[in-house]
Amino acid sequence: MKRRMTREEVLRDFGEAKEQRHIYPHFQPQYNHVTGRVIGAEALMRWEHPEFGSQMPGCFVPVLEDEGLIVEADLLVFEEICQFQRDCIDRNVSTIPISFNVSRVDIHEGDFVERLERIRQRYDIPVRLLRAEITETSAIGGLELVSRAMAQLQELGFVVEMDDFGTGYSSLNILKDLPFDIIKLDMRFLEGNLGDRGGTILNAMVQMTKWLETPVIAEGVETVAQADYLKSIGCVYVQGYLYARPMPADEFLNVLATVGLEPTLPSMQLVENMNAKRFWDPDSLETLIFSNYVGAAAILSYEHGKVEILRVNEKYVQELGMNGNETDAIHVDFWDGFDEENKAKYIGTVEKAIATDDEQVCETWRMLSSDCCGKDEACIRSTMRIIGRAGEQYVVYVMIQNVTAEK
Ligand code: C2E
Ligand code: MG
Ligand code: MG
Repeated sequence: MKRRMTREEVLRDFGEAKEQRHIYPHFQPQYNHVTGRVIGAEALMRWEHPEFGSQMPGCFVPVLEDEGLIVEADLLVFEEICQFQRDCIDRNVSTIPISFNVSRVDIHEGDFVERLERIRQRYDIPVRLLRAEITETSAIGGLELVSRAMAQLQELGFVVEMDDFGTGYSSLNILKDLPFDIIKLDMRFLEGNLGDRGGTILNAMVQMTKWLETPVIAEGVETVAQADYLKSIGCVYVQGYLYARPMPADEFLNVLATVGLEPTLPSMQLVENMNAKRFWDPDSLETLIFSNYVGAAAILSYEHGKVEILRVNEKYVQELGMNGNETDAIHVDFWDGFDEENKAKYIGTVEKAIATDDEQVCETWRMLSSDCCGKDEACIRSTMRIIGRAGEQYVVYVMIQNVTAEK
């Protein structure tokens, strides 16, 4: 009879399941939504019970965690992943990194990382082909254990991902204190609501991961609209039903053999001599200079004609005679007040700054409106330079001057 197992049945049958390998992973590929290539996969635990049928982790992982048995199950899944990678290597199939889930209970087990490492060595798998996922909620009750496990894993060369970013109650602290290599954002927590607040929060989270120079993978992506929106805010790595459901090993092998692979994840790189942490730190010297000594300036993100305002200083707001403060200025549509001709001219100048890697200047007219002066046409001189890039996305530094009077 196919049905969900009870707690008692989970505990009764776990021993047999382990021996008979009824517990094993499915694989869910992750894609680059721009190139359509596979960038990795996540292993997800399944229990194929001879009597009750296929069981999802929700039915048995919490029980195994309660009883401390999850450690054995996770090591079993990890070994299966190593076996899979070994087969790929031996059969000359292209390989891609596979992520495994680390339970908070594993972290409390003193020798978990050593046991993983022994298995990895036994199968002789390059460490770059195995990535650890630790959920943010593991840190509830203290960062020390997570921090130690993470350091141990990174020391051995494992990439460590923060799973389910944004779901815990202190995501920002964890992000600040623990040097995760990749961040996984779960779309399901927005409950499909990308309009209004959902979209704003997502955008802010993605921008934050950029400043930390940490690649981000969105999971639970089910629709083209979601993936396109994510792309528009600079998140191109997606995992979800839109591309593929978790699948058995043989199907996944087929994906590897037929779809193009792209095993590295670029993150935002700022130009040499610029330190991202200082650059975005509100208390840094860089910020002090940006805010007080450089005249009217803005930092924009640019991708294929799409411009997003990341940051402006007070003088920028004044120079454009805008209502409100610097934070309000970030929320306006950058192209507000531009006509098609001036927009094209502006985009052309950004493209030139990208192509030449040098400073470029343009003068464009736009309609400015404010409470005090109503609507007025103004000519703005923009001097711009590219200061960072991640894939197709660029960070542009722009100084502006209102030259309407001169004209
Ligand atoms: P997770 O690590 O956040 O895994 C992602 C979950 O989202 C998986 O559920 C996956 O099947 C599901 N998913 C992927 N794409 C979509 C989508 O587009 N829409 C929706 N609605 N769901 C999607 P699954 O396999 O049921 O696993 C649930 C959780 O169980 C995992 O969440 C993880 O916390 C835990 N888990 C899974 N495998 C393991 C494991 O090997 N060890 C441990 N300790 N925990 C595991
Ligand atoms: Mg996971
Ligand atoms: Mg997750």
